[in-house]
Amino acid sequence: LLAVTGLRKSFGDNVVLDGVDFSVAPGQVVCLIGPSGSGKTTVLRCLNGLETPDAGVVAFSDGQRHDFAQPLKGRAAKLDRAALRDRSAMVFQQNNLFPHLTVLENVIEGPVHAHGASKDAATAEAERLLGRVGLAEKRDAYPHELSGGQQQRVGIVRALALAPDVLLFDEPTSALDPELVGEVLLVLKELAEEGWTMVIVTHELAFARQVADEVVFFDDGVIVERGHPRDIFTAPTNERTRRFLDRIL
Ligand code: ATP
Repeated sequence: LLAVTGLRKSFGDNVVLDGVDFSVAPGQVVCLIGPSGSGKTTVLRCLNGLETPDAGVVAFSDGQRHDFAQPLKGRAAKLDRAALRDRSAMVFQQNNLFPHLTVLENVIEGPVHAHGASKDAATAEAERLLGRVGLAEKRDAYPHELSGGQQQRVGIVRALALAPDVLLFDEPTSALDPELVGEVLLVLKELAEEGWTMVIVTHELAFARQVADEVVFFDDGVIVERGHPRDIFTAPTNERTRRFLDRIL
């Protein structure tokens, strides 16, 4: 579906991504793990056009290609970023729902304003998706009337409503109370079973072990090791991966 090659990004002197290569196949679930500050979130932000890499290529299998070593200017840069952003939808650590909009209004905002969908069609799809995550009866509630887990599920529905090629999750459960984590992970598991393509930054290693087709271990801006969770978690070959897992598991 997509391939990332040679992704580099620095903030001032801080080299955050130092040549990152990976690819994601259609329907694949890739979990990015690794120590805090190793660059995982920055990878997602680059894929979603929220950060502009200093170098690297993001190429989609249908031919769409973004080469950041040759920066575009002005309108071309804007169109290029919009095209990249359209391919994915991101679910953040803290769901950033609009507080003054209802659940339904939050979900249809993207399809109506960004994609030009009709309000009726967007509403019907939003109701269907809210039903899927058990939130049909909350359509007219405001975010502050929901639990953190419910808010995060709305955040996921909002991403699904954009019908992206790939869903990007940035630690989707790390801001939740422990008892609310399970309901959100369950939704992610169901999406994986439905065949959504997902890239998930997570510290939930037990979850990664269950749903990931591939686990990618980051350290210090580079990918140190990748593979099937069965192999990475039971027999990591790299010393840095081993130390990280020893600390966490
Ligand atoms: P965590 O698990 O804590 O979220 P991470 O692996 O996702 O960590 P990133 O959030 O990608 O790591 O951050 C990598 C590094 O980039 C950190 O040193 C961070 O301080 C720095 N960084 C990220 N965004 C910015 C920014 N906008 N400006 C300056 N530095 C940044």
